[in-house]
Amino acid sequence: MGQPDVIVVGGGLVGAACARFLALRKLSVHILDSGDEPGAASPAAAGMLAPLAETAAENPLLRLHVRGRDMYHALAPDLKEETGIDIGLWTEGILHVALSPDEVGRLTDEIAWQRQMGFNVDWLAQDDIRNRYPSISPEALGAKLAPEDGALEPVPLLKAFLASATRHGASLTRGVRVEALLTEHGRTVGVRAGSETFTAGAVVLAAGAWSGRIGGLPRPLSVEPIRGQMIAVDWPTDEPPAIALAGSGYVLHRNGDALAGTTMEYTGFETSVTPEGMAQVRHAMRSIYPTLEGATVKRSWAGLRPGTPDGQPIVGRDAESEGLWYATGHGRNGVLLAAITGEVIGQLFAGEAVEHDLSPIDPGRYWRT
Ligand SMILES: Cc1cc2nc3c(=O)[nH]c(=O)nc-3n(C[C@H](O)[C@H](O)[C@H](O)COP(=O)(O)OP(=O)(O)OC[C@H]3O[C@@H](n4cnc5c(N)ncnc54)[C@H](O)[C@@H]3O)c2cc1C
Repeated sequence: MGQPDVIVVGGGLVGAACARFLALRKLSVHILDSGDEPGAASPAAAGMLAPLAETAAENPLLRLHVRGRDMYHALAPDLKEETGIDIGLWTEGILHVALSPDEVGRLTDEIAWQRQMGFNVDWLAQDDIRNRYPSISPEALGAKLAPEDGALEPVPLLKAFLASATRHGASLTRGVRVEALLTEHGRTVGVRAGSETFTAGAVVLAAGAWSGRIGGLPRPLSVEPIRGQMIAVDWPTDEPPAIALAGSGYVLHRNGDALAGTTMEYTGFETSVTPEGMAQVRHAMRSIYPTLEGATVKRSWAGLRPGTPDGQPIVGRDAESEGLWYATGHGRNGVLLAAITGEVIGQLFAGEAVEHDLSPIDPGRYWRT
């Protein structure tokens, strides 16, 4: 194999999406992944596409988030045709349930300003909830419905991005733990892993929560792991499939299971499931679906989200070190934003116009004065 145009460090959803969109633009791409990292975020994710149901107030990236969600409508059939993999796209909407008068106020405010921005969101009254979702808590005072939000299955999506990338000429090597960037005269020219070196025209750093651990970075990278714990139980009998959020928790239907999450824990690279975490997730689950109280846990797991100080990802080129690019720090939204991150990286590499304001995700925002 000759020297590739681009090395992508990390083969999670974000790295795989970048590789696919770069390969589509005829760049030669080599993905290096450490392989089966305990705590990798992508296989642990719930897979919600919830830009409107779960909105941080005044998120400057809201339109980008919605565009990221909508990209999957075209991508699902494209990836199926290219790779034969069904990414399990579900587009029946997400409920955000109000369990207190304060939540009613907050969610109805959100509906007002989201509608003003032209987005499709509705309020479901108590009776609507009873009729449509009989197992949702009788304490629900109403719910915001984001009818175009949904979900997909992260593991098939990851496989599909990787398969599509390789189909368009990218190569993937697993079991390579990149330790440091290689730099010559201020330019990034490749990476080092143990005694091996891999050279390339450019490097995209997409190693999730581990991105800041790579040596040779021009300055410290503000990415740290945020653990999230999840459980799976049987979906309530006779209840229609749904995705419902309340407070900091959620329950999502997938293939007959109820997936419930999650925690936001700053515990370093600790990837275990804990009794406290499980208790928190169970509490959230039964506050939404009380009939799941006491349900047998079929599986439990934890993953490490790549968090940043302002909660926004870090995407784009390093302004000072030529050849170094970042696609990391996607926190709670890396499934939602994987495709659009890949597209933006592809567009930037190809010198194409990008329709979004990228300043909130600019890699230089933490250190530029
Ligand atoms: C419990 C949980 C639920 C979530 N739910 C949702 C959701 O519903 N919707 C949503 O949008 N997002 C969700 N997320 C967030 C989402 O999963 C992440 O933002 C996203 O998966 C990050 O992808 P990534 O590729 O950056 O990182 P990862 O998936 O962690 O991938 C990083 C990759 O880099 C590799 N790597 C690490 N170090 C090195 C190295 N030195 N050299 C080479 N390779 C390396 C690892 O092996 C791994 O494959 C959730 C996360 C968690 C934990």
